[in-house]
Amino acid sequence: MSLEYAPAPESTDVVHIKAHYGLFIDGEFVEPVDGTTFTTVNPATEEVLAEVSEAGAQDVSRAVSAASTAHSRVWSRMPGRERGKYLFRIARIIQERSRELAVLETLDNGKPIRESRDVDIPLVAAHFFYYAGWADKIEHAGMGTSIRPYGVAAQIIPWNFPLLMLAWKIAPALATGNTVVLKPAETTPLTALAFADICQQADLPPGVVNIITGDGVTGRHLVEHPDVDKVAFTGSTEVGKAIQRAVAGTRKGLTLELGGKAANIVFDDAPIDEAIEGIVNGIFFNQGQVCCAGSRLLVQESIIDQVTESLTRRLQTLQLGDPLDKNTDIGAVNSAVHHARINEYIKFGEDEGAQRWTAPCSIPERGWWVAPTVFTGVSTAHRIAREEIFGPVLAVLSFRTPDEAVAKANNSPYGLSAGIWSEKGSRTLWMAQRLRAGVVWANTFNRFDPTSPFGGFKESGFGREGGRHGLGAYLRSEVV
Ligand code: NAD
Repeated sequence: MSLEYAPAPESTDVVHIKAHYGLFIDGEFVEPVDGTTFTTVNPATEEVLAEVSEAGAQDVSRAVSAASTAHSRVWSRMPGRERGKYLFRIARIIQERSRELAVLETLDNGKPIRESRDVDIPLVAAHFFYYAGWADKIEHAGMGTSIRPYGVAAQIIPWNFPLLMLAWKIAPALATGNTVVLKPAETTPLTALAFADICQQADLPPGVVNIITGDGVTGRHLVEHPDVDKVAFTGSTEVGKAIQRAVAGTRKGLTLELGGKAANIVFDDAPIDEAIEGIVNGIFFNQGQVCCAGSRLLVQESIIDQVTESLTRRLQTLQLGDPLDKNTDIGAVNSAVHHARINEYIKFGEDEGAQRWTAPCSIPERGWWVAPTVFTGVSTAHRIAREEIFGPVLAVLSFRTPDEAVAKANNSPYGLSAGIWSEKGSRTLWMAQRLRAGVVWANTFNRFDPTSPFGGFKESGFGREGGRHGLGAYLRSEVV
């Protein structure tokens, strides 16, 4: 039975996008020194949303200098309980403006409003509340008493969870007494610019948070700036390696949150209906543009037909289309470039001999869309089983024994996350101890909580964000 939904679009009246945005430096929006701009586009319609400033080397220097002055004169001298008050204020404003932020995120990123409204923005507020609570308790965090903030943190984030990645970076940095210069991704700058407005609304002292927009060139200027004390990067493994090379041999601290190719492992005793929901959420949430996406499905051989049949039946019920519609499950992918990359991988899968199944969705005429796609008959040698696609494409592999499942899951250059579906707690614990993944979910997937550390092994990076561990990324030990 196919279900027809009446359209239920969220109103865009609540957002006021300016035609042009400057850079947010020292508490004010200013024009870039060389005046270069670029546009940001709605991926679901290809319409230009706004013109945004591109920060050049001199603009980066201005932002770093503002952050450095704010650190030495204001933020590092302020007692933790006062810093905490600003963070609580920011968290409350995010809650108050949550509908506006959700719509803005969906317009700029293409993700369904259901996700930005129910997952992204509530988690953003939760991160600020959580780290606000830590601001006056840093010396009780179990990291010793000789700890100090780095100073100026340069933070570079990707486009898949724009405001959430900002929260993961800015909340712990401010709580620990650092000031920041943050660069959002070039395709999703709008919620970071709205956050700059929130900093003004919260009366945050000028220079404590600076938001500069631009592409990888701006990012490189920021990473290489000599007055930056700490670099925190989330993005691709390729760029992460380049940043690690640039920072090597300097005094700068570094944390890297990079790519992933997670195994979602289903045993024959798993609760199948729940597992199907977990598989769908694992790979089709945010169109699969999730670093910890369960992009490799490992199913015990005896149930593989049952699982793939249930899965493809379930995928036929997903609604693809207008991301602002509250019924939509699958939104647009973020850019034309990324759309081409995902399709290239789908072609690799076909050329390598795997069997492709694509959900029968009607694709809107404008915008960048990829229907949920499942490949069966995949082996560990296939590119679609080894490389991060970062799209709604699932590779299904089989295994016979727990040992084989562990071997296949760990056969990856990445080590960010994994999922285990089984009714046996002892088996789940046995597996979790052997999987080389920073996060292991049991009978669930893609669950996030500000109290829980997140981060990877191997080429997925190093350092942890979230929880008490996330404070460590912004503190250095000082031997007196
Ligand atoms: P990307 O590496 O292309 O870009 C990320 C950011 O780095 C952008 O802001 C970009 O402008 C900037 N950048 C590009 N080149 C740079 C350079 N040479 N120096 C400094 N900055 C530079 O990644 P993307 O395509 O935006 O994001 C997708 C990637 O992010 C995926 O690989 C995904 O797995 C990863 N990711 C990881 C996590 C995590 O927590 N591990 C979370 C989200 C996304």
